[in-house]
Amino acid sequence: MRAKTLRSRFPPHPRPIGILGGTFDPIHDGHLRPALEVLEALDLAEIRFVPCRIPAHRDSPQITAEQRLALVRLATAGQAGFAVDDRELRREGASYMVDTLASLREDLGDIPLYLIVGADAFRELHTWHRWRELGQFAHVVVMQRPGPPKPFAPVLEEFVAPRMADAAALRRQPAGLILFQPVTQLDISATHIRALLARGQSPRFLLPEAVLACIHERALYRPLSTPASMT
Ligand code: ATP
Repeated sequence: MRAKTLRSRFPPHPRPIGILGGTFDPIHDGHLRPALEVLEALDLAEIRFVPCRIPAHRDSPQITAEQRLALVRLATAGQAGFAVDDRELRREGASYMVDTLASLREDLGDIPLYLIVGADAFRELHTWHRWRELGQFAHVVVMQRPGPPKPFAPVLEEFVAPRMADAAALRRQPAGLILFQPVTQLDISATHIRALLARGQSPRFLLPEAVLACIHERALYRPLSTPASMT
């Protein structure tokens, strides 16, 4: 009885949830390995992979949102702590991370949320829709090359400096801080994988076998055929 009273007065701290958004066109080991390292290093309850429906900052993906989602499901299946969240596909219009975090916050209550971004994406953070509001909903964890971060645009530097914190500080509040987390750097990009496939070359070992098998089965990212006008 006494133990029960104590537990309800001091509920155990909930483990944080990580959010890894992306176009995932297609998902690859450069997403998966660093994500696993963040999951383990920061003792997260899970990382949710959130494919976007319509990316806000780039050209249209080469395959449909449903196909990208299917590849993300294949890539993450069977890895404890990896989950897939399709809320951006269920929302009309461009996929803005600030809207996604607001809706996750509504679903998940006060639990610490960690928005996980690669160092390259983070350097462009100040170009995201309502970017200053991101910190109301989540912390930001930057998957960083080991060593000190390179300088940012002044407006971003100003935003980062007062918010930089360590892992222990992030666990003590639900949102608002920034952590640079060193991860193994894998020089893999979806752009490179698409280019290999377009040339009819193999991207094997840059992405999970199940993802590559599905790409071949469904004939995704097929080499561009020569237009009839050029033959
Ligand atoms: P593309 O080459 O088409 O631009 P991408 O490979 O960068 O795609 P995205 O889906 O745009 O993949 O990336 C989703 C998130 O994963 C971003 O935060 C990005 O910075 C991060 N990311 C992508 N590739 C890597 C990598 N090799 N190492 C660490 N983070 C990565």
